[in-house]
Amino acid sequence: MERPMVISGHALIEEDLTLRSVDIIIERGIIIAIEETDKSPDIWICPALFNAHTHLGDTIAMDYTTKGDLVELVTPPNGLKHRLLATASRKDIVTGMKTSIGNMVNHGTAGCVDFREGGSDGVIALREAAANQPFRCVIFGRDGGEIDSDGLGVSSVRDIPDLDRIVAKAKRNGKQVAFHAGEMDSKDVDAALAYDPNFIIHATHATNKQLKQCADRSIPIVVCPRSNWTLDATSSKAHPPIERMLNLGCTVYLGTDNVMFVEPDMFTEMAFVHTIYRLDPIITLQMAISGSSIKGEPFFIKTGTRANLFLINPRFSNLRFSQHPVASIVKRANSNIIGTNVFNS
Ligand SMILES: [Zn+2]
Repeated sequence: MERPMVISGHALIEEDLTLRSVDIIIERGIIIAIEETDKSPDIWICPALFNAHTHLGDTIAMDYTTKGDLVELVTPPNGLKHRLLATASRKDIVTGMKTSIGNMVNHGTAGCVDFREGGSDGVIALREAAANQPFRCVIFGRDGGEIDSDGLGVSSVRDIPDLDRIVAKAKRNGKQVAFHAGEMDSKDVDAALAYDPNFIIHATHATNKQLKQCADRSIPIVVCPRSNWTLDATSSKAHPPIERMLNLGCTVYLGTDNVMFVEPDMFTEMAFVHTIYRLDPIITLQMAISGSSIKGEPFFIKTGTRANLFLINPRFSNLRFSQHPVASIVKRANSNIIGTNVFNS
């Protein structure tokens, strides 16, 4: 029988990410025990990150341009990204998505929720790209792809005729439903919330009343601040209003949106959020992990759950001088500091 794996170090335990000196015992990918110890090595153990919003398909259009408004750049069917996707080969799109997933894994990220364009074949292409990688790839399809995937990802209520029927059919088939909403202004948020979505993306310009609804109705919000800044949807910490969201009781996850414009690197996203918002680093790190609850077990380190975590050896960098490991992970981490990924998502 396979011997249990024992990982010793200073681990960020459970949802509150309490730093404890422990031995974590893992058998067949499951954490079967977390035992206190007073002689753990100087290793930090962090839950794996989860990128709650990507469009991996547009990796093929990386850094083409950011000139233009949201309609010109990303709105279907004629926005720049959709024209580039339409002319790219399937092989290149799959390779692009596969390499972006590899980059995420190298940056401590063990899963994402991807809004996949291209109907059913787009969904199948992403499945191919994610195959044999230690990665939980949750796919929200569209244009028929929702039936073959985990959910329906709506670009905006503004863009889709016949949305009532499409949403009703997805729900009838037991699919989750999520919307981009509030990226340019607040005008498409009420209509998105009327569909009782499982979560919404952006809420960059959502009103307090809309945010309060999200809180009261337990509709999580995925914010993508670097994307909003890159695409001129904001230029201040007022949008997306992460502090207001948290103060109103919203559940907030972090995502990075289109790979075309923003690298799907959750370390950089956390550092950006820290610089702009100065939130408690523990809250920022929680937002970068808890999107994993969109489908499946959250990645927090707990007895009885699958082990999804990564190890940092601070002795090999200036991190050994850190007085606050969580703050240092949020502000300074990069792929070089990861010793080992233990991903069983
Ligand atoms: Zn998006």
